[in-house]
Amino acid sequence: MSPPELPEWIEDDLQKIRDTGLFRSRRTFKPLTGGRCMLDGQTLINLSSNDYLDLAHDDRLIAAAASALSEMGVGARASALVSGRTEWHAKLEAQLAQFEGTEAAILFPSGYAANLGIVSAFANEQDTVFCDRLNHASLIDGCRLSGARLRVYRHDRLEKLKRELDKVTGDGKKIIVTDSVFSMDGSLAPLVSLCDLAEKFQAILIIDEAHATGVWGASGRGLAEELGVEHRVTIRIGTLSKAVGAMGGFVAGASDLIDWLWNRVRTQIYSTALPPAICAAACKSLEIIQAEPERRRVLSERADFLRNELQQRTNVTIPSSAGPIIPVILQDPGVTMNVAAELQEAGFLVGAIRPPTVPEGTSRLRVSVTCAHQRDDLERFLKALDRSLARNVESR
Ligand code: PMP
Repeated sequence: MSPPELPEWIEDDLQKIRDTGLFRSRRTFKPLTGGRCMLDGQTLINLSSNDYLDLAHDDRLIAAAASALSEMGVGARASALVSGRTEWHAKLEAQLAQFEGTEAAILFPSGYAANLGIVSAFANEQDTVFCDRLNHASLIDGCRLSGARLRVYRHDRLEKLKRELDKVTGDGKKIIVTDSVFSMDGSLAPLVSLCDLAEKFQAILIIDEAHATGVWGASGRGLAEELGVEHRVTIRIGTLSKAVGAMGGFVAGASDLIDWLWNRVRTQIYSTALPPAICAAACKSLEIIQAEPERRRVLSERADFLRNELQQRTNVTIPSSAGPIIPVILQDPGVTMNVAAELQEAGFLVGAIRPPTVPEGTSRLRVSVTCAHQRDDLERFLKALDRSLARNVESR
């Protein structure tokens, strides 16, 4: 039986995506240990991963997951509210609360689901949401879904946010929503100033610590810990899919907040709970993050080395920031794709990021470092990048 004919607009749109150089193809990737991966049969140094602490392939996580897998099987079978919340979910919630120093915690099927569900549960049509222009799509989608008035600001120009906060009148809530570490930019949200503004204008502050959990803060709790503002942020959302090396979103907080989220956030209520084996792996990972702070130290040393080296190049822009996400801004999407392809030929995988994920004119390589990378891997990467930039980019 032949499939139904596709509507013409799909063909037209696909052609438009191809014509503008923005077509995204699918590749088959296999993660390997030691900061490496296999792509289409070639072994590469993987500088595109969010597994910052090199835990996704850790034998201890694998053993924890394997044991829970043979005990409970693969899927959770139902949403957490119905019958899918196992002993492993309860253990992980308790461990997250202990890690974050809070009364309780709640899990979500993914970081995306947590952001989408939480923002749309907090905000409604009477409210105004203030959203950073570089926020992750899941926060932006949550703002849209809520039906609230949307005001977009830039974290490097907070005067606009202040003006907009000042303009809002009426009874509706004011809600500021931000990533703490911007995923495609590596820049850090000015959390202290955002807390000051939230307090001055009685706004709720929601932050997404997806790329900060396990990476920032003396105990790895995130950028709010690093900057000493955990107690000033209304709600901090984390993901288990990046430095924790597993999967799932979470919020840790006061019992009443967690009870409210449990009863109101639709992406949690209406989606199947995380697989129990994933929860067992995440429990092990949190233990390791607390017991082995040297992982964070190595990560920070490697990231500083690479960022400093890249900042000396005159033919690319490297925004000043810190941490393992380093954007190499090449502006043009075609050049970005060429350089990424040449780096792949030379043995390195980096993300090639184009609009609409980033603003027009800011196409970039997203280079992410993990504590598994050796200094030598990074030095070889720099040489390969220099060769490719010499071919593709004029000196500025
Ligand atoms: N927030 C940010 C800032 C992210 O970068 C991502 C994932 N890329 C998410 C949320 C979504 O998290 P998850 O992958 O766990 O759904």
